[in-house]
Amino acid sequence: MKSSKPVSKDPICGMTVDPATAIHAERNGKTYYFCGETCLKKFIDPQSQKESRKDAKGCCG
Ligand SMILES: [Zn+2]
Repeated sequence: MKSSKPVSKDPICGMTVDPATAIHAERNGKTYYFCGETCLKKFIDPQSQKESRKDAKGCCG
């Protein structure tokens, strides 16, 4: 089986993604591709993941 299709790797989860259809973000002039919005969000703002978790835990003070 030939795989001549260009593929890219999701830097968050390591999954192989198709650059033609995958969502992407640029950083330092490089383009990164992601399997889904969850990985994109983690890439863009890892802090917000922690904060939202903390927030959910202490919602009722
Ligand atoms: Zn992913």
